[in-house]
Amino acid sequence: ELILAIETSCDETSAAVIENGTVILSNVVSSQIESHKRFGGVVPEVASRHHVEQITIIIEQAMEEANITFADLSAVAVTEGPGLVGALLIGVNAAKAIAFAHNIPLIGVHHIAGHIYANQLVEPISFPLLALVVSGGHTELVYMKEDGHFEIIGETRDDAVGEAYDKVARTLGLPYPGGPHIDRLAAEGKETIDFPRSWLEPDSFDFSFSGLKSSVINTLHNFNQRGEEVKKEDVAASFQASVIDVLVGKTRRAVKKHEVNQLLLAGGVAANKGLRHALEKEFEKTNVDLRIPPLSLCTDNAAMIGAAASVKWRKQKFASYDLNGNPGLDLEQQ
Ligand code: ATP
Ligand code: MG
Ligand code: FE
Repeated sequence: ELILAIETSCDETSAAVIENGTVILSNVVSSQIESHKRFGGVVPEVASRHHVEQITIIIEQAMEEANITFADLSAVAVTEGPGLVGALLIGVNAAKAIAFAHNIPLIGVHHIAGHIYANQLVEPISFPLLALVVSGGHTELVYMKEDGHFEIIGETRDDAVGEAYDKVARTLGLPYPGGPHIDRLAAEGKETIDFPRSWLEPDSFDFSFSGLKSSVINTLHNFNQRGEEVKKEDVAASFQASVIDVLVGKTRRAVKKHEVNQLLLAGGVAANKGLRHALEKEFEKTNVDLRIPPLSLCTDNAAMIGAAASVKWRKQKFASYDLNGNPGLDLEQQ
């Protein structure tokens, strides 16, 4: 089957053509980062306007690169949520127009299902599996007993890990989005500051990063007040060490409790070199099959939405023309 997929949930306008949920025929991503940089974060109104300007061009480019016509499509898929409502609506309406005009099925996809299924664009995935989802808005451990079935066994109680990266980066005076900058600095620094590890209750798979974030901000403030210099590299390395300890530690326990075939890493923060390396080291001598997507499939893109949509296509789980952008869409109800 051939699916045209559209993603506009945040600040990337993207369209892709995916064959059988596994082969990328095209994956065009237009990032708005430059427009949001001067505000230090994504401005929803600016994002919506960019999506409107870009969407038609990006879809045409994706179709052209895939070298197909609309008549060849089996379905059109779109991120239904979660995300910025105004941004989601641009993608949803574009998808609806294509579905109606070409009389093909419409598929609504959960953005996080997309991040997880990005792994399927590399190699087939096998169940049961655990996914560690780390992104700008989510930090979750997801258990999947089969295709299209999601059970959240742990999630953040406050900040998402990507959000913590971006806020700490901002405090250090680094540009938006700060995650990649912290990652780069961390590799050059040493863990000289002992930041807290938020383990929560001993049997909990939940996460919390706001305490760590506050601790970094307070530490920087104290250094400042004493007029002492602090190496940004060391702050980055110390912060990243705390994040990775908790992410890897909780994942290790989750993998022990739930017998799984595979462990998938997913989401924008999956691009983090320190995290990728720590997970590889942790699981290399175990029988856990760890899968980490290439960098281009970690951050937002429409190819991953096409991969997740393929599951719904096979199950004939189509949306009707009243499909709407849903910022609070529930992964477990997919
Ligand atoms: P969500 O997927 O939860 O809706 P989102 O789509 O905004 O949120 P993604 O695009 O998946 O988030 O990921 C963006 C986040 O990933 C940002 O917070 C960014 O700082 C972070 N990020 C990207 N690369 C890295 C990196 N190398 N190290 C740490 N964080 C990173
Ligand atoms: Mg983004
Ligand atoms: Fe995302």
